[in-house]
Amino acid sequence: MITKFIKRILRRDPMVKHTQANNTGAPKRIPKKSHRIDPHLLSKNAVKVTHTLQQAGYEAFIVGGAVRDLALGISPKDFDVATNATPDQVQRLFRKARLIGRRFQIVHVTFFGKGHPEIIEVSTFRALLDNAGDHVAESGRILRDNVWGSQGEDAARRDFTINAMYYDPSSETVLDYHGGMADMQKKTLRMIGDPAKRYREDPVRMLRAVRFAAKTGFELDSATRAPIAKLGKLLNDVPSARLFDEILKLLMSGYSWRAIQGLKEAGLHHGLLPLLDHILDEGEDSKGANDFVKLALANTDERIQSGKSVSAGFLFATLLWPDLLKNWKANSSKGMANIPALHDAMDDTIATQSSGMTIQRRFESDMREIWSMQPRFERRVGRYPYRLIESPRFRAGYDFMLLRCATGELNPAIGQWWTDFIAADPAGQDELMASAKNESGNSPTPAKRRRRRKPKSALPPEGAAS
Ligand code: ATP
Ligand code: MG
Repeated sequence: MITKFIKRILRRDPMVKHTQANNTGAPKRIPKKSHRIDPHLLSKNAVKVTHTLQQAGYEAFIVGGAVRDLALGISPKDFDVATNATPDQVQRLFRKARLIGRRFQIVHVTFFGKGHPEIIEVSTFRALLDNAGDHVAESGRILRDNVWGSQGEDAARRDFTINAMYYDPSSETVLDYHGGMADMQKKTLRMIGDPAKRYREDPVRMLRAVRFAAKTGFELDSATRAPIAKLGKLLNDVPSARLFDEILKLLMSGYSWRAIQGLKEAGLHHGLLPLLDHILDEGEDSKGANDFVKLALANTDERIQSGKSVSAGFLFATLLWPDLLKNWKANSSKGMANIPALHDAMDDTIATQSSGMTIQRRFESDMREIWSMQPRFERRVGRYPYRLIESPRFRAGYDFMLLRCATGELNPAIGQWWTDFIAADPAGQDELMASAKNESGNSPTPAKRRRRRKPKSALPPEGAAS
């Protein structure tokens, strides 16, 4: 249904045409002995895709971040393929192929193997656009661009030189249009073309510059860095959902702390997440918040670098926690009961923190669930712990609570108690319950001080947060 709709749009759209022009010069051909890409790091499915396309008479290459990572000796997390076949032509060659998107029409070819299914993203070479067309906004931002072009044009419209290399697995040759390999050796991140113009076309490229610099450890070339100070404010015009995606990629890059420092150095953090302003500006009272966020990000980076998964809901829950804590305490000191004070604070934090970019609903409900679980870790009486451990998001809430212990916000003995409780058999759990009863002073939050007559009603019901 959707595919049909897209096909119809594609047929009607006067923008969709092939251009023959190649005004971008010939690429440098880099043989195997010079680029030293290890074929073992290639995805078999990506090779299958390029091979099938080539067998059908088309050109096809692995492209973009995958080639950059391969040349760095890193195993790419995903593989993109670029071809001169149109999306329709690509789709006909594969059994599990779906047309995706309107702005950039691409084909997702899915392979089902032992683990997760692998999606290879196949895009058709795209043309360069001149800035005179009605598809360019006043600021220079590109709005629509389904115009197919030559490989040279496709290379010229990519962002950084190291992201514009094409690898042919059959000949094991890299086609390098913009000196990406030389920049790689110089450890330089360089924007293709006139950097200011390229940032105007797509301000998100400024965030990408920071992300790739953090990931590769490369320096931004001075001409690539220079316009950012002036043009950073153009990020305000970028649709919130796109900004969110890019910030998420930055936080999930495995180098989030370094990337956030990079945002600060580039002056780009203002307005993205009010929280970042607060943390990075290092105001007098942000020390504790800094510690917590730093630890959370270090923890995230470590997980990602060792191939473990990280939930975006968890990550944003940690980033917004210092603000939430501040609001929660303020509500409590106004005399609100503990749990309503927490829920009210959640509303406030979410409302104020998502002014620059909307945090997507599904992450928001994860965040609320993790947060509202926190006071429940201190209720080690009756059936509460037994019930808490059964919550579907218990693990996330528990990991979050351990972070709070690690920064000293919560008594580390409570974290240890829960760690023991999870590992214990039923008899051991009963013993731990008895020991908790005898402990004193293990509940430093307002929960204890403000305990009401009927403690049961002070607790949110199971799963109420989602
Ligand atoms: P990652 O490893 O994070 O996926 P990547 O370089 O593959 O990095 P993607 O967002 O997957 O990044 O994009 C794939 C390729 O598409 C890039 O390498 C680049 O060539 C091109 N590209 C992506 N976004 C832009 C953009 N905003 N402007 C120009 N080219 C872009
Ligand atoms: Mg990629």
